[in-house]
Amino acid sequence: MAVKDIMDAFRNKDLSDIGIKENLAQLVKDIKLIGDELDVILYLPKPGIEGLLKTKVHEALSGVPDVKNVKIRFADSPPQPKQEVPVGQPTFTRRPVPGVRHLIAIGSGKGGVGKSTVAVNLALALRNLGYKVGLLDADIYGPSVPTLMGIKGERVTVSERNKLVPIEKMGMKVLSIGLMLPSEDTPVIWRGPMLMKALTQFLFDTEWGELDYLVLDLPPGTGDVQLTLAQNVEISGAIIVTTPQDVALADVRKATSMFKEVNVPVIGVIENMAYFTCPDTGKRYYIFGKGRVAEFAASYNLKILGSIPIDPEVAEKSDKGEPVVVSRPDSEVARAFMGIAKVVAQNLG
Ligand code: ADP
Repeated sequence: MAVKDIMDAFRNKDLSDIGIKENLAQLVKDIKLIGDELDVILYLPKPGIEGLLKTKVHEALSGVPDVKNVKIRFADSPPQPKQEVPVGQPTFTRRPVPGVRHLIAIGSGKGGVGKSTVAVNLALALRNLGYKVGLLDADIYGPSVPTLMGIKGERVTVSERNKLVPIEKMGMKVLSIGLMLPSEDTPVIWRGPMLMKALTQFLFDTEWGELDYLVLDLPPGTGDVQLTLAQNVEISGAIIVTTPQDVALADVRKATSMFKEVNVPVIGVIENMAYFTCPDTGKRYYIFGKGRVAEFAASYNLKILGSIPIDPEVAEKSDKGEPVVVSRPDSEVARAFMGIAKVVAQNLG
């Protein structure tokens, strides 16, 4: 069951008995499906028929399995005459980021799995392969890229063209909300529209120049940031970072479903903290279990892009702003990132 099935059911729902010439699908302003929860915004073609339209939605959904919770909201302005949306296409328009060949979103089901560490090191590994790379910290609620890249305290400037100028560091262009707040301790309490406006500005009103890859460090989970970006920006693909624990994998399921529902291709999964190699004996210990991520990926038809070992020095160096791909290029972890970068580049072409 997908948004497409729901839109098909809406398209077949005639509203002439309540005096509306459009079918239900033509009134949809926005529609999101996460798991079994549907959130739909309808244009209100005339006042006072909210209740009738809600009934029509429920009637249309009665033939669609697996939709449990339905939230229906209304938008004021009537729909402009528009062309019928081809079946299976999203009902929103996505803009590419000018000059950027591939936008890669790095997501995770939950926090603390190493998503930001992966975003930073994967970006650097792509740069090592000779690509032009940018890194955008879209983890607006907990920006850690400034720390990881060793640029905490630096501030972005504005160009003559009134665009944001990213910080140049380690051969990459880097931008984060953490580089714009007055002080490190300023809490980011932006909500909804303001937050989205800032993110849109980061993408579209920034001097990114020509980039082969712009790596986007998303907030953890499946919140508004992910959905809004997915619906408004052309994303080449998403990479989901997880650790092998059950709790992390359960949340990966949700993240995977979300990307599928909004038609963002999932490039694959990166297994972080996969094992620990004992420095004395060279033996690998699968602390969080072996084969779980592979099993999960197979059942969801997802590729594993690579596995990254646990290395206490990763945490230590990260806090000092020395990403492992740059500070210890010969380490097992750095080599794992280089391998993953090659797979990603091959996948995206
Ligand atoms: P997230 O972005 O998912 O919240 P972080 O990238 O901030 O996660 O990582 C969480 C913590 O785990 C950090 O202290 C980080 O240095 C550490 N970490 C991430 N990956 C590894 C690894 N492979 N080995 C050891 N520590 C790691």
